[in-house]
This record gives sequence, C-alpha cells and structure tokens, in this order.
Amino acid sequence: MTVVPRFNRILLKLSGEVLMGSGQFGIDPDTCDRVAREVKGVTDTGLQVCMVVGGGNIFRGLAGAAQGFDRASADYMGMLATVMNALAMQNALEKTGVQTRVQSAIPMASVCEPYIRRRAERHMEKGRVVIFAAGTGLPFFTTDTTAALRAAEMGCDALFKGTSVDGVYDADPKKVADAKRYDTLTFDRVLADNLRVMDASAVALCRDNHIPIVVFNIREEGNLAAVLRGEGVSTIVQ
Ligand code: UDP
Repeated sequence: MTVVPRFNRILLKLSGEVLMGSGQFGIDPDTCDRVAREVKGVTDTGLQVCMVVGGGNIFRGLAGAAQGFDRASADYMGMLATVMNALAMQNALEKTGVQTRVQSAIPMASVCEPYIRRRAERHMEKGRVVIFAAGTGLPFFTTDTTAALRAAEMGCDALFKGTSVDGVYDADPKKVADAKRYDTLTFDRVLADNLRVMDASAVALCRDNHIPIVVFNIREEGNLAAVLRGEGVSTIVQ
C-alpha cells in the first residue's frame, strides 16, 4: 500500500483513452458517468478538484501529421478534440449533481469560459470542478504538459494521473507477468530511465514545482477515493 498525504486541491488528468472505455475510438457515455461518480465521491469530502482531459480517443496531432496534415494544424485539431471530451465530462459530472465549469485555452465564448486562472481558482473555492480544455492552446504540446502547468498555476497539492494500470511498472504488466510495480519513484529516476509516466516536459515541470504525481487505475470503481485515503494502489513520483 502506498501512503498518500492529505490533499486539499488536486488536478486529475485523464487521457482521452480512458474516456473511450472498452471501445477503440470516441467517447463512451457509461465510462464518463463512472468517472464522474469517482470525482463526485471525492468532491463530497470537500476536496477541490480540477481536471485536464486529453483528446487521443478522437485525434492526436502526431498521428495527423503522419497522415500528411501540417503538424500545427493537426495539433489544433487535437486541442479541439479535448474540448469535446471536456463537454462530455461536464455533462456526466452535472448529472451527478457536481457543479462544473469548462475553461478553454482557445476562447470559444458560446461553448465555455475562456481560461482565466483567478476565475478558475474562485470556482474551485466554491466547490465547482473546473475542466481545462484545449490543452495549453499551443501546438507541439501535450495534455500531460498542460496538466503539469495547470497544477502549478492552480497551486494543486498533487497531480493524479488516472490510467488503466495501477501504477508505474519496470516492464509492461500487460505483457510481462512478473513486472514489478514501484510504490514510489523520484522525478530524476523517471527522467533518467525514461519511465512511461508522463512526457518528460510534464515530469520536469512537476519536479521543478514540487508537485507529486500519483499514477493510479481510474477504471477500478472507488479507486480514486481509496488512493486519496491512502488505501489504494498507486505509484507516487516525488
Ligand atoms: N495538443 C496540443 N497542445 C496542447 C495539448 C494538446 O497541440 O497543449 C494536441 C496534440 O495534437 C495532442 C492532442 O491535442 O496530440 C490531444 O492531446 P493528447 O495527445 O495529450 O491527449 P491524450 O494522449 O491525453 O489523450
């Protein structure tokens, strides 16, 4: 068991792949509902939560560029994909009774709020979940880096990375039967050994701003709350 300290405000990063559930593409409403229940479970305890959602279930800039799209244009398409995921999560959260705001790094006034740091903080103080959409608003970045950046801007105590495995392993646990899970890791070890936690710029940003990264399995019911109570399984990078 990994001991997780008590947090007041966290950022939850979900890759687009989490939202497609068992599908191969797109958004699975049941999965969004399940993730929303996880988030509600922890906001009910008074924890302040903001979220960054990826877009890989719909469009990735690198994949688009490989097909012949101009890289920057493809990245903008990827950022727009994250807005669709953010709206899906907003819908799911509001169905559970959690107040939310979507803030986009690319202003789109008739869809959601623009990203305004101080306003986002105010929303969280009022108990609203803020979902950050459109990444950083800049091509050639990722939503992992966005998550690290927003976590730093929002003064989050930790960045929770929800994945489909229960932490960081020394080999792919889906392929290697005796792969070993790390309870804790240092930022420097993650960077030196190129461990697949988040991309290197995100890890470096968290290291420089002293924001621990908690990698856990979001697909397991009740796991976010369990990890926060120090009862779940995760890997903490600090
Ligand atoms: N993206 C970008 N700038 C950002 C964040 C994202 O250009 O600040 C684009 C990039 O093309 C990326 C896509 O949006 O491939 C979707 O984000 P990401 O691949 O990080 O999503 P995830 O893997 O988390 O689903």
